[in-house]
Amino acid sequence: MIVVMRPTATQEEVDGVRRIVEEHGLEAFLSVGEERTVIGVVGSDVERVSHLGTLPGVEQVIRISSPYKLASSQHQPERTRVRVNGVELGLGQELVVMAGPCAVESRDQLMETARTVKREGARVLRGGAFKPRTSPYSFQGLGLPALELLHEAHDSYGLPVISEIVDPADVPAFEEHVDIIQVGARNMANFVLLKAVGQSRRPVLLKRGLSATIEEWLLAAEYVLSAGNPNVILCERGIRTFETATRNTLDLSAVPVLRTRTHLPIVVDPSHGTGHRALVGPMALAGAAVGADGLIIEVHPDPANARSDGDQSLGFEDFGALMDELRRLQFVRSADVDAAPAPAVAATGGIEEVRDRIDDLDARLAEMVQERAALALEVQRRRDPDAHGHDVRRERALLERAASGTTGPMTPVELTMIFDALLRASRSVQRRHTQSISRTEEDRPAASGSGR
Ligand code: PEP
Ligand code: MN
Repeated sequence: MIVVMRPTATQEEVDGVRRIVEEHGLEAFLSVGEERTVIGVVGSDVERVSHLGTLPGVEQVIRISSPYKLASSQHQPERTRVRVNGVELGLGQELVVMAGPCAVESRDQLMETARTVKREGARVLRGGAFKPRTSPYSFQGLGLPALELLHEAHDSYGLPVISEIVDPADVPAFEEHVDIIQVGARNMANFVLLKAVGQSRRPVLLKRGLSATIEEWLLAAEYVLSAGNPNVILCERGIRTFETATRNTLDLSAVPVLRTRTHLPIVVDPSHGTGHRALVGPMALAGAAVGADGLIIEVHPDPANARSDGDQSLGFEDFGALMDELRRLQFVRSADVDAAPAPAVAATGGIEEVRDRIDDLDARLAEMVQERAALALEVQRRRDPDAHGHDVRRERALLERAASGTTGPMTPVELTMIFDALLRASRSVQRRHTQSISRTEEDRPAASGSGR
């Protein structure tokens, strides 16, 4: 902490600050400048003198280290991995998709959703049992019976389940029935609840408060961590701003900001973050692209008739399409079953013969790849050089065709990786061509009329 004295501060006022610092068992280092004195305060708990700013002669107090310790990456540089029933969230792990209804409405609704989201590749099932609704007249959730249904879904489908807690007295019931306890945005600063879940052995997903700064959010996480629970997952779910086109403003910059400040895993909620079904997919992809460890998405068998948050819930088909897109972009791995079971090649002879065939194929592939690049260059030559770029829609269609057009031991994702690399190399050939043209133009004398 640094205490900056006013230029008019007297020697007595400087001594007063120093005395208080030392009385609290901290050290004070004075730097006497021509205009003013600055005092560095060092010690294990500088927060004890956070009131120094009110002393006479003090202009401002600047905090250097973060007010949260356990959540900070200064305290723990290696990233936390949270493990729940074989699912891992955190450093280097695959993007974990959590999906399910906003609220558990019935056994059929939950089981049908669980079966579908599991088939589509979700790794955690969500479902609200206690709904903290803005209006007391809105559906409040089924309560304990919903937790029991989540437990049943967990047992039937093998997916860990997450649900929101609103009352500290419910911790034992949540411990019995769910795998991850969610603290909702409206309760982010409910410190009694945070301390209660901090004493639980279940991981806690802590949503960002509607108007919470990142620092306040990390301090809320600190409550859970300091109560003894090291497994905290942060969830960005949008904040209140002046914008009304979306339900909330999904602050995706929070993800890279958090990465510099904390070791805790980060999940993005594009459902509450936008409030509109059509915006969920794009913002889910964006969340994955900025490096979230997971996504939490509301899915309902019949969004139009959902008892809560239907407008932002994806139907099964939309959710399936989003999972396909996450797989295509390789945020999510394909299940192994995507690979054809047997190699589609008849190979006879010894190992050397098979290797010779591979060498032969590689040579042909290299020739074909060069021929393809020459054609890509031809396209670029015929295109207006200023229109340099590529046709994203055509590329996407090509990748999709490549991924599904053949059968063999390679999965669609593996095939897509190859074609993706081909497209990237083609673009680099085209770019080199455009650059060489513009260099030639720059070299031309000004009189030639190039305008430069
Ligand atoms: C929810 O996840 O259903 C929920 C109520 O979220 P939030 O706390 O982010 O509003
Ligand atoms: Mn909801």
